[in-house]
Amino acid sequence: MPKDFKPALDIAYRESLRFLDTVRDGPADARFDQAEARRRLVTDLPEEPMADERVIEDLVAAAEGGIVPRMGGRFFGFVIGGTHPAGVAADWLSAAWDDPPGTPLASPFGCAVDTIAGEWAVELLGLPREASVGIVTGATMGNFVCICAARYRLLEQLGWDVEEKGLFCAPEITVIASEELHPTVNLGLRMAGFGAGRVIRVATGDNDVMRMDAFAEALEATQGPVLVCATAGLINTGHCDPFREISTLIKSRPAWLHVDGAFGLWAQASPRTKHLTDCVELADSWSVDAHKLLNTPYDGAFAIVRDKDAHAGAMSFQASYLPQPLGARDPSHFVPELSRRARGTAIYATIRALGRRGIREAIEGLHDNSLYMAQLLTGEPGISCLNDVVFNQAIYRMSAENGDAAGADRLTDAVAIRVRESGEAWFQTAEWQGRRVMRCSISDHSTTRADIERAAQAVIDAYRAVVSVG
Ligand SMILES: *Cc1c(COP(=O)(O)O)cnc(C)c1O
Repeated sequence: MPKDFKPALDIAYRESLRFLDTVRDGPADARFDQAEARRRLVTDLPEEPMADERVIEDLVAAAEGGIVPRMGGRFFGFVIGGTHPAGVAADWLSAAWDDPPGTPLASPFGCAVDTIAGEWAVELLGLPREASVGIVTGATMGNFVCICAARYRLLEQLGWDVEEKGLFCAPEITVIASEELHPTVNLGLRMAGFGAGRVIRVATGDNDVMRMDAFAEALEATQGPVLVCATAGLINTGHCDPFREISTLIKSRPAWLHVDGAFGLWAQASPRTKHLTDCVELADSWSVDAHKLLNTPYDGAFAIVRDKDAHAGAMSFQASYLPQPLGARDPSHFVPELSRRARGTAIYATIRALGRRGIREAIEGLHDNSLYMAQLLTGEPGISCLNDVVFNQAIYRMSAENGDAAGADRLTDAVAIRVRESGEAWFQTAEWQGRRVMRCSISDHSTTRADIERAAQAVIDAYRAVVSVG
């Protein structure tokens, strides 16, 4: 008997709408932790079948109050958040269609959608049209894919086929990156066999940007091919490494410039912020998320490589049981997966719904809200912003009445916790240059000026409350 999908899907539809309709009014934090979530979920492996609708009803009941609302307008943690209706709806559909975008013979539609989503991303981000795209789970995987393409080409130029021979006994490739390189690029380097400890770290200056005098020195001290990993959108400050200078300096060497642009590459989408990513199109590869600033549902990101043959050379494989219709593009040749979710569908739908203008306005909105938050928070004596706010990222620090640094660390942590517990807004703290800071990432297009005012007031109230008790 084929199963009836309607009862379960009806509940999912109704409950999704209820969640989305009420999320903005509720608290900005979950009401319980992981241990409580486990208690609410059935953890013994079930022996017997259960009605689909019961499964979904139970899941909804267990999740009630347990979802941190990233799309609620007042979530400022990490660099995540937000969805658009077309993206969520398309994601549902792609689950219903169960059409994995690989092997075009079996998935002509899924492969076409995946391909178009990638082409649009390249165009929106102002990258070279000849670049190839793999739609991956996140910028972490994007970094890995790009690093593999770099490894393929840099070694091929030395007559070494890394896909065939591996890295044992291979000629050495120098890797240069900034001290502020995102840990997921390190992970990519580790997975690709470069080792995190071999990376030459370049000192950073203002706003965590890689210092070019130090970079030039590091470059001069080494010989042979070099893989440079730079960042568009540093996680604490939102600034970018200087791509123009890096590109010029590496010109005399066999080199590959990879850019981790998880969120920051979207600065390319607006004339107001494009100066931040000046010359980023000169790089060889780029990793950028869709689920961050484009606000698609999880998971979706792009691994973009100028040298298509290096990209496919590092990722593709052949099998006689996977025949390719002539002229068809197989998206699985550009990612380290064969069967995969149609994550391009939600991206396609989101871009279609927003258009180039909608995306530009969304990015500008995040930036404007970031400036507004900085203005409101730094209006309070004792709260300072430690970076120049140029994009969507800012870091704040609360000072203690006696000017004591350890006291300021404690206050900064206490404020973030107090605000989270109040349910008014969601912030987190981190260590930055030896000091505690409260991070503020504005990543959700649905955040309004009123949300910013409410969140800023909550921070100010929390600060006044904790500073007075010392
Ligand atoms: C988020 C982030 C990543 C990792 O991206 P995922 O989508 O979480 O895999 C890498 N680099 C930077 C700068 C980021 O902000």
